[in-house]
Amino acid sequence: SETRYTPTRKVDSLCPYCGVGCQLTYHVAGEGATQRIVFAEGRDGPANAGRLCVKGRYGFSYSRNRQRLTVPLIRKPGIPKGVNLDPANPLAAFREASWEEALDFAAAGLARIKREHGSQALAGFGSAKGSNEEAYLFQKLVRTGFGTHNVDHCTRLCHASSVAALLEGIGSGAVSNPVRDVEFADLAIVIGANPAANHPVAASFIKNAAERGMKLVMMDPRRTPLARHAWRTLQFRPDADVALLLSMACVIIEEGLTDAAFIAARTTGFEAFRSAALQYPPERMAPLTGIDAATVREVARAYARGPNSLIFWGMGVSQHTHGTDNVRCLIALALMTGQIGRAGTGLHPLRGQNNVQGASDAGLIPMMLPDYQRVADPAVRARFEALWQTPLPTEPGLTVVEIMDAACAGRIRGMYVEGENPAMSDPDLAHAREGLARLEHLVVQDIFLTETAMLADVVLPASSLYEKTGSFTNTDRLVQLAQPVLPLPGEARQDWWIIQEVARRLGLNWHYAGPHEIFAELTQALPSYAGIEWTALQVEGAVVSPKLAPALPSQPVLFQTDFPTADGRGRFVPVQPLTAAELPDRDYPLVLITGRVLEHWHTGSMTRRATVLDALDPSPWCGMHPQDLASIGLEQGGLVRLETRRGSIEVEARADEGVQPGSVFMAFCYAEAAANLLTQPALDPYGKIPEFKYCALRVRAVFAH
Ligand code: SF4
Repeated sequence: SETRYTPTRKVDSLCPYCGVGCQLTYHVAGEGATQRIVFAEGRDGPANAGRLCVKGRYGFSYSRNRQRLTVPLIRKPGIPKGVNLDPANPLAAFREASWEEALDFAAAGLARIKREHGSQALAGFGSAKGSNEEAYLFQKLVRTGFGTHNVDHCTRLCHASSVAALLEGIGSGAVSNPVRDVEFADLAIVIGANPAANHPVAASFIKNAAERGMKLVMMDPRRTPLARHAWRTLQFRPDADVALLLSMACVIIEEGLTDAAFIAARTTGFEAFRSAALQYPPERMAPLTGIDAATVREVARAYARGPNSLIFWGMGVSQHTHGTDNVRCLIALALMTGQIGRAGTGLHPLRGQNNVQGASDAGLIPMMLPDYQRVADPAVRARFEALWQTPLPTEPGLTVVEIMDAACAGRIRGMYVEGENPAMSDPDLAHAREGLARLEHLVVQDIFLTETAMLADVVLPASSLYEKTGSFTNTDRLVQLAQPVLPLPGEARQDWWIIQEVARRLGLNWHYAGPHEIFAELTQALPSYAGIEWTALQVEGAVVSPKLAPALPSQPVLFQTDFPTADGRGRFVPVQPLTAAELPDRDYPLVLITGRVLEHWHTGSMTRRATVLDALDPSPWCGMHPQDLASIGLEQGGLVRLETRRGSIEVEARADEGVQPGSVFMAFCYAEAAANLLTQPALDPYGKIPEFKYCALRVRAVFAH
């Protein structure tokens, strides 16, 4: 009826998708359990100024999708574990259970493994889609209840190498300047990122800046839509990024464009970096990078001269076995030119999920306790042991891919996965799924029966962002509050409540009354959140971190006078160009690059169940250069088989002149043709991030359209 769609109330909250952190108002119709969001509009938030992209504006219907989990599930005895892609009956492997039974079963399995095999046989993945309070509670449960630091989340798959390099170089893993600082920039480099698809509202501010005359430099192996607004586009070869950045540094040094005063006053290690970089002039690197020396020189000069130059980067930089080296180069460019510490300058890794910054801050990292305080430091451990009244293990934990390896090897026997979908997001999925299936006990807490939940022993139905109160930290370090828009469906529960119930059954004496109490403890654990008050979040809607005390001002632009390193100085780290881990050869002559598309987000668990978004992009496809398509006798719309040494999938091929000849692009959100069946698990040695952006591939024509 008409009244079903007539909004009767509106609620201010946040977008559940990307790290831009747009604020929205949701207009809601209906009563009780039948309530639904009718439409959403952008609010005048600090990150979006009323703007929204297609995901924020039309992507809310997943919250009431018929596939929402509304009751706890326990695997039926004797049902083998496998990723069940039969949409007709995905729940057949499970029976319904009461909360009491499901929680007891979940905790008992974890407790048994701890008792019989020790704490190191357990691991947990928390979520960057949950709130700061949920992330904080989850890592505390793994550390104090399981007794291990084997806790990680999707940052390992997106910006772990960025964080490793930033902590090493400038003492902070977060952005130095907010996205909207692009307004004050004379030049912005966007490297290894496709903001028009992945951070669309951020892209709109970058476009506005380009329209007013800012020089936009797009650097990526793929030509993406923002390149239409670029002053220069450098479409370099897929694993030549370190070589390209070193050649830029070489130009700046050779041509005397460094900021000698800044280097002397605020940095260390320049001489060693200088010597390394001078070995890679753009003339020498051009055959490797595919970019002519004159263009590299022009861009390097313009970046150094600014006056204000800013660098944005994404996973095209970080998801390499040399991801940390890439970011070391970006840091070096900023430090050697003094392009940091002022409005319109700085370093901005564009964070992927809506709370990946907050989940990292809150401690979902195996080698770091909350606020990037190192597990290996006895003084840090002592502080947390006092706060949590529990002894902590001394050894850092395993990372995402290491945990999957350990599960395959039988060393990890039990896991708790909250709101993550490693059976879609991990590299070499056949291996990852084998690891998950081999676990003796897998607890999954989610809102849908994801590919990971299909492998679970017990499934706990949780809350979407539309149903929760909680703080979320966006890519700009803005801590913002989400408010419940809809009631929980069926018997689904708040994530923090579920984590607490599991914790209690593991013997932890937890009595948090709600997110505000968890946040109060979180501010004691995270010095950078110590000055953020829950009431301030409720009143102001957004507070910038770090905020060390309530009376101190926030700092949207960091590092104005010094860096949070031991000596207050930024550090240059010399690097040299390295090739990708798996190079094309006669059998697999092409390169596969994975990424994302505008309409879908991460593993697609939400957007593929959002009616409008899935209608816009309903089936798997890959992008190929028309010349490569023609070479196998196909045109736009033909069916191809993509094969690597790890697996094969069949998808529609689309002609895309933005994809370089010799490479193929595919998003990893389609369960029916999962791109990560093809990717390979080689890791960056520092960030332990897999090389999603490069592996050897062959393509065969299956069907000409
Ligand atoms: Fe949501 Fe990101 Fe789009 Fe904003 S830009 S509406 S946060 S997906």
